[in-house]
Amino acid sequence: MFGLRVYKKLGVSPIINAQSWVTALGGSIMRPEVLSAMDEAANAFVDIKKLNRAAGEVVALACGAEQGLVTAGCSAAQVLMVAACMTGQSESNVEQLPDTTGMKNEVVLFKGQRNRYDKAFVTAGAKLVTYGSEHEGTADELEAAINENTACVAFVIMPFALHGVGLEETIRVAHERGVPVIVDAAAELPPRANLSKFHKMGADMVAFSGGKGIGGPQSSGLLAGKADLVEAAVMNSLNLDSSVAGIGRPMKVSKENIVGLVTAIQLFTDSDEAAEWEGWQLKAQYVAERLQGIDGVKVKIEDDPAERQGPQPVLYFEDEFDGPTISEIKERLENGDPAIFVGGGSERAEINIVMVNVQDGEEIVIADRMNEILR
Ligand SMILES: *Cc1c(COP(=O)(O)O)cnc(C)c1O
Repeated sequence: MFGLRVYKKLGVSPIINAQSWVTALGGSIMRPEVLSAMDEAANAFVDIKKLNRAAGEVVALACGAEQGLVTAGCSAAQVLMVAACMTGQSESNVEQLPDTTGMKNEVVLFKGQRNRYDKAFVTAGAKLVTYGSEHEGTADELEAAINENTACVAFVIMPFALHGVGLEETIRVAHERGVPVIVDAAAELPPRANLSKFHKMGADMVAFSGGKGIGGPQSSGLLAGKADLVEAAVMNSLNLDSSVAGIGRPMKVSKENIVGLVTAIQLFTDSDEAAEWEGWQLKAQYVAERLQGIDGVKVKIEDDPAERQGPQPVLYFEDEFDGPTISEIKERLENGDPAIFVGGGSERAEINIVMVNVQDGEEIVIADRMNEILR
């Protein structure tokens, strides 16, 4: 396993990640081309201002948007999008954040989309205003939540998250009131079509993680959208064009990460989505077949893109199953050598084995260990 030594030196062992592009397990693996581009980038000084602008153009082109920016992750992009909606292109406003006095400072969000990443929407000094319940929200409730202090409406797209009135209707209602819509779509790539999909629907700014499905550096992200707003986001970032200190200064992106992300985006858009899917499908089928015939365990390959990141065997436990509980199974997997992390459990009565980060051959280790535990 590549990189084993550097981790072992620190007393930390690599694990098998069958839980998807989660930050806690390392995001994704960068391709050799990305690593060599970063290696090359690390060997020279460069004008970061120019590099940022050039990389932003690559992001914009990939997203079919007017302007783009490389950020230090999707969360950083969320901070900058909200900051941009509050400050516009006013230098004094940029300087003033996180004090929002005199600025529109409310971010409207459907309550059913609240999540552990939404703190980034208030980091720049904004206030979150939710509408609807945890289960549903209506266009009327959205409309009522918008007022003269609304800086933007935020929309979050993530597996298992609710859509409320949906992005299209959200954009319609917000735009009718002259309010921009920002989208957190961190882990919605692939499919590659999503790079431009939300822009085509009319979203004003959209953020993705660079270190998830794209396979860029783990602490990189993409922000793209309408030129006036993205320019305002640039002003709030590590903005070397200006002496004004932006709220985004602690979220700088290194030259290596900028080059790594740009390279990853190009590889991602050039590579074959169907072949990638097929690879995951084969691993899912292998594990699903190896787990047939266990009393009380039903194994099904699920691949609904609204809920699942790629085709994955999902284990459903029936009443007659008399083996360990889901949390006991996960504990045993995580305490083994190598540790294996699978999805499901806490909120869902299932175990899902997500293949997007399972390296070739690891599916065999997973199937062996699952069989040891379940039979
Ligand atoms: C992963 C994730 C983020 C954070 O993205 P980073 O690139 O790690 O900063 C934000 N929102 C959602 C929905 C995510 O899944």
